[in-house]
Amino acid sequence: MNIKKNDVIEVICGEEKGKRGKILKILKSKEYGYRLLIDGLNLAKKHQRTRGADKPGGIIDLPNPVHISNTALICPKCGKRTKIRHDKVEGRRIRICRLCEEVID
Ligand SMILES: [Zn+2]
Repeated sequence: MNIKKNDVIEVICGEEKGKRGKILKILKSKEYGYRLLIDGLNLAKKHQRTRGADKPGGIIDLPNPVHISNTALICPKCGKRTKIRHDKVEGRRIRICRLCEEVID
């Protein structure tokens, strides 16, 4: 896995192409592989039923997962779409941006 929760990604194809957002959650399934829930991206209106007094029903925005292959990681240091490489420092796995050579973690 090259990405983690809270990484910023850019969508590289589909309707949301070019948009960026933070990874809220990584979903893994046998059928689809890895899909990402991105903050504020790919929102789908969902009708929610009332569940008691403190959870009123209505229409809420829920992010639809985006497949990992449709996204590219954004390096927090150089702000570009990047690929990362892994390295080991003092036994710990770290991620390094291939573009700016900065440690991402
Ligand atoms: Zn970078």
